[in-house]
Amino acid sequence: MNSKELFEKSLKLVPGGVHSPVRSFKGLHTTPRFINRGDGAYIWDEDGKNYIDFCMSFGPLIHGHQDKDIKAEIISALDNGWTFGACEKYSLELAEYIIGRIPFIEQIRFVNSGTEAVMTAVRLARGITGKAKIVKFNGCYHGHLDAMLIKAGSGLAGEAEASSKGVTDIQAKDTLICELGNLDEVKEVFKQFGNEIACIFIEPLPANNGLLIQEQAFLQGLRDLCTQYNALLVFDEVISGFRIGFGGMSEKTGITPDLVTYGKIIGGGMPVGAVAGPRKHMEFLAPVGPVYQAGTLSGNPVAMRAGLVNLQKLTKEAYATLEENTKNIVALLQDWMDKNGFADYQIIQYGSLFYPINTKDKLTNITQLPSNMGERFKALFEVLLNKGIYLAPNGYEVGFVSLAHDKSVQEELKKRLWN
Ligand SMILES: *Cc1c(COP(=O)(O)O)cnc(C)c1O
Repeated sequence: MNSKELFEKSLKLVPGGVHSPVRSFKGLHTTPRFINRGDGAYIWDEDGKNYIDFCMSFGPLIHGHQDKDIKAEIISALDNGWTFGACEKYSLELAEYIIGRIPFIEQIRFVNSGTEAVMTAVRLARGITGKAKIVKFNGCYHGHLDAMLIKAGSGLAGEAEASSKGVTDIQAKDTLICELGNLDEVKEVFKQFGNEIACIFIEPLPANNGLLIQEQAFLQGLRDLCTQYNALLVFDEVISGFRIGFGGMSEKTGITPDLVTYGKIIGGGMPVGAVAGPRKHMEFLAPVGPVYQAGTLSGNPVAMRAGLVNLQKLTKEAYATLEENTKNIVALLQDWMDKNGFADYQIIQYGSLFYPINTKDKLTNITQLPSNMGERFKALFEVLLNKGIYLAPNGYEVGFVSLAHDKSVQEELKKRLWN
């Protein structure tokens, strides 16, 4: 069956034909490509066409598809069985490796997804502080837990409402929404609710609704407010962790959060998430502390071993190469776009992330995204897809570059663009 036939079948079997909404190609010119295989920087669909992949499973595959070392480790791990629901040594090796390279982290709890990590961190922050409210920023994505499916309300600063049906008003009441980059608003919210706020949650490099690079002073301002009001600062580094350098944005900015959440890269493409921080916070978790959290498949030995090999390969040189790959790719894309009907675009780049958007303005929050970005993205996506270049199928998503996007792939990209 080809992609079109598979999607028709999928629509009968699965709500909307997908297991995660962003995969649905909603608002685009075509239906989803069903991917059969990936290798390096390339994916092949069920129609036999191949693409240079800039989605990379939305980030986990920092070494590309089927990295040979990770693959060998997974295969060797399978020989010992793939889940025990008991203690094993592999999660300790992964934990030790991360703790050894990121100074503020003393303990880690592994879970199975970014959402689960965030859910745990929210409960942990509430348990530690004994307070209920959390501050979240418009445009930051933290997974699909109730506490985070909240949007700004129409009333006073911070006031919010559910952004999904099924999320209760009570949940919405405990999440305060602020605009990225507006420290005065956050200060105002703390003035009003300071003694009720358990934590500020932020993607320190917001990369789920465009690439909204924040000023150092803003992030530092959040750090200071949390310290002043006895709230926790939680960096959600599910995308930026191990991508913007090994220590993510906390290392890059020198700002130390109280807790950090990981996902995506940490499992090398296997389902892993994590909450991490100093021991004094982490030991609030069960069984030693009063905050409950558990997981049948957590610390899965195959995933732990894949994750460790994945992280061990992230040397200083690897990050330099990633950055160089990304700069070259952005230059190739921008040059082609400038001369082929997409001159209204800039490509924002940070580390190995890039984001094409049809405005030349500097972007720090989601309200600054142009209102016609949907139709412009549809046009760009269609042209590139036809040329064998696969962007994440939604205009809000960033592009992910891997170590597999090397010189030969860059040459191929140039060829495909100008063909
Ligand atoms: C992807 C993402 C999540 C959710 O992770 P899942 O593994 O999809 O549940 C949470 N926070 C951020 C910043 C993310 O990018």
